[in-house]
Amino acid sequence: MAKRPIGARRRPRIVHTVPALRKALADLRKRRETVALVPTMGALHQGHLALVRLAQRRADRVVVSIFVNPTQFAPHEDLKTYPRTFATDVAALAALKADLVFAPAVETMYPEGFSTRIVPEGAAKAGLEDAFRPHFFAGVATVVAKLLIQCAPDIAVFGEKDFQQLKVVTRLARDLDLATRIVAGAIVREADGLALSSRNRYLKPDERAKALTLYRVLVRSAEKIAAGADGASIAAVLDDGRAAIAAAGFAVDYLEARNAETLAPLAAAGERPIRLLVAARIGGTRLIDNVGV
Ligand code: AMP
Repeated sequence: MAKRPIGARRRPRIVHTVPALRKALADLRKRRETVALVPTMGALHQGHLALVRLAQRRADRVVVSIFVNPTQFAPHEDLKTYPRTFATDVAALAALKADLVFAPAVETMYPEGFSTRIVPEGAAKAGLEDAFRPHFFAGVATVVAKLLIQCAPDIAVFGEKDFQQLKVVTRLARDLDLATRIVAGAIVREADGLALSSRNRYLKPDERAKALTLYRVLVRSAEKIAAGADGASIAAVLDDGRAAIAAAGFAVDYLEARNAETLAPLAAAGERPIRLLVAARIGGTRLIDNVGV
């Protein structure tokens, strides 16, 4: 039987406040429908839309949140210039028949007097993104905890593109006894391998051409490691990889091989599975990517 759109609308219902969100969700819950949440900062691309499709396969109804979260940006970062394309985002979600868009104002998420922060440890202290963006995971954990509490979804879908974030959020849901299962979505890439990102639109044409070096280096390094590099030669593979990324014109923040589960540095040769993670800057743009070994 075809699913009834909420309130017989074809476009997703858009709500901006927590009471309106809870009312819309209560209508769904009455029909015993399961709910998935896909948190985003908007500027939606095919990577986000793949998460929405995954959510639709796993739950009856899909809520997409669009919120550019100021607390995960440092003062020198791109909060002001972060792309905001709300009308296009809603049109893309309408085409997919997403059910509900939650687009809170900053004052809704952080009203005057707001004074609570969630500061994650474990994977959030792995020495990867946290080493270069020290404010980042407390901002993410706080907003994700709020979104999960506001929506109380059955599942929430996060992309492997932000692999460390996925680990942090998975742990957060478990540690706070949230009744939401965190589901991971695979990375969606351009034809040449560049991982889709809202920030790719900052790249100038020559930078865009160089950007695929990141994925090439990840894949080549993963192949070499899979072919049997031991502890010492993993270090050499990574050194070569960093040099290749720098030679393409990037400033390398990190290229690391980590335990794919904990993100801890590899303790023993032969430890598997491994995740290779990279972050590098070109021009004013910072890109991240990762692959499994
Ligand atoms: P963002 O809007 O960048 O905060 O991302 C929202 C969600 O989309 C996060 O769970 C990201 O990991 C995920 N995401 C971003 N880019 C991609 C991609 N290329 N493939 C899969 N998921 C992605």
